[in-house]
Amino acid sequence: MSARKSKKKNNSSTAYLGFLSVLAVGIVILLVLMAAIGSCRGSDSEGEENIGTPSGGVTKEPESVTVSESTAGTDSGAGISGNILGFGTPPNFSVPEETAPVNAEVKIPYNAEEDWALYVIGNDNPLPDDFTVETKAVSGERTLDSRCADYAIKMLNDAAAQGVGLFVTSSYRSAEKQAQNLESYINTLISQGYSQEEAKIQAEKEIALPGHSEHNAGLALDIVSSDYWSTHSDLDESFEKLPQFDWLIDNCWKYGFILSYPKGKEEITGFIYEPWHYRFVGLKHAEKIHKVYEETGEFLTVNEYIERFIDMG
Ligand SMILES: [Zn+2]
Repeated sequence: MSARKSKKKNNSSTAYLGFLSVLAVGIVILLVLMAAIGSCRGSDSEGEENIGTPSGGVTKEPESVTVSESTAGTDSGAGISGNILGFGTPPNFSVPEETAPVNAEVKIPYNAEEDWALYVIGNDNPLPDDFTVETKAVSGERTLDSRCADYAIKMLNDAAAQGVGLFVTSSYRSAEKQAQNLESYINTLISQGYSQEEAKIQAEKEIALPGHSEHNAGLALDIVSSDYWSTHSDLDESFEKLPQFDWLIDNCWKYGFILSYPKGKEEITGFIYEPWHYRFVGLKHAEKIHKVYEETGEFLTVNEYIERFIDMG
């Protein structure tokens, strides 16, 4: 009796253990499934990132000097990761924490020291004639203002670590270099049959005047995919269709950069839509500009941002 009872007990405890094992296996399978679904969702939403609406640029590409400077093919081979790994450890700066929804009613007081990179450079806002900048390499021979170079290095390194191959095709160029590019383009146009005057007018539509480009300030990078020049002969809007563009839009703000010349803002910036051109404004401001984009789908230009959010005092 007791033996039978005991056997029965054994049977039921074996069944109980069996049930537990099945339960445990079930939980493990469920967890694996949930993780798989979660990661699919993540990549889906990244893929769905929708940047603006397709349309043509209004004005001619004032930065196309960048193109001729970079299409030479000498740049094409090297990938970013190879170029930038030798530049030491990037700084330990922190990405701003999530903040409340952006509120244009409350303006941020301007602080010249903290906000040194927050200024407009463009056709109506040239750099001063005596402008100088200390530069530092960010990728190969490409340089930026040394105060923001490490941010760019970290951005490029992080992208490479995430398997996103970026290539810096243009960076700081002096106003003198800008003048040389303009001059040489005028000569090219003359050789194509333009008169001196026509050539000058046309060239100035396509190339920013010396001191009028964010590149002259050492704040801007033109970034494409590492294999871009193997399939393109020019910088064009099609870059926005590449995953590298999505990565930049999703992440450049974490390093203090913004898209300078958004689609639909050509009249404000004076430049065509340039999905490859990123400009440093600092972490705090880049985050706020990104927040506006997340909430409204609008990319603010630097001057719009300053008007809406900054109390210049
Ligand atoms: Zn550019």
